[in-house]
Amino acid sequence: MSTLKIENLHVSVGETPILKGVDLEIKSGEIHALMGPNGSGKSTLAYALAGHPLYEITDGTVKLDETDITEMEADQRARLGMYLAFQYPVTIPGVKVADFLRHAVSNVRNPDRQEGGELVSMREFRKEIYEQLDKLGVDRSFARRYLNDGFSGGEKKRMEIVQMAMLQPRFAILDETDSGLDTDAVNVVSEGVRKLAGDEMGVLIITHHDRLLEYNVPQNTHVMMAGRIIETGGPELAKELHEKGYAAVRERHPEAA
Ligand code: ADP
Ligand code: MG
Ligand code: MG
Repeated sequence: MSTLKIENLHVSVGETPILKGVDLEIKSGEIHALMGPNGSGKSTLAYALAGHPLYEITDGTVKLDETDITEMEADQRARLGMYLAFQYPVTIPGVKVADFLRHAVSNVRNPDRQEGGELVSMREFRKEIYEQLDKLGVDRSFARRYLNDGFSGGEKKRMEIVQMAMLQPRFAILDETDSGLDTDAVNVVSEGVRKLAGDEMGVLIITHHDRLLEYNVPQNTHVMMAGRIIETGGPELAKELHEKGYAAVRERHPEAA
């Protein structure tokens, strides 16, 4: 069992403070939903957790079990088991899905691997990727597609989920808020999370898509406003947000509204 613990996190972009003291704890096996109005800082939290250089942590800590990862580079975090879909390149010309994933898996599993160094064996890798594609119900031919070359919204999401399945992270952070997901894409993510989340993996899903939450009922729903998590509840909170929007939450927290 692992714990991702975020304490009093303050994050600035340039000179502007965006996150103003975020506390959040996720254990492996738990699914947490993060919701909140546009501009409240949800993506900023995701980027800061990914170690994105534009998002400066000015106070607070992020710990993975006993390891303080607050200052770590993105690739170090990945090796420790953090997965953030968007930290990876959008298009790499001439690279197939399988090649890309073989490198990604090798980098994460073998921290000492230098560029051009040893990759996981082709035989082992092929077995694994087919196993995961079959489990996710993705056609095996997907492995031979060129990375993101003409991918539909649903295929991009499929790529994120296949990558998550191959890397087997301890914590996955999925920012699905502003991506303009169509029904196909939402289904891909929702089924993927349902199949992959479990004892070994904790998931923070940033979303307002009910379908994503319907199939992956989160034990915990958090509402972010003005750079803080102002309310945490169970599935009933997600339901209230769906039915009434943020009005009721704003009324309960006039200071944040
Ligand atoms: P959300 O994901 O909840 O919609 P964001 O984290 O995207 O919120 O944005 C929170 C605030 O931080 C917004 O005011 C936004 O303009 C600002 N912000 C986020 N990222 C950047 C950036 N790279 N440059 C400038 N401002 C940013
Ligand atoms: Mg936004
Ligand atoms: Mg966002």
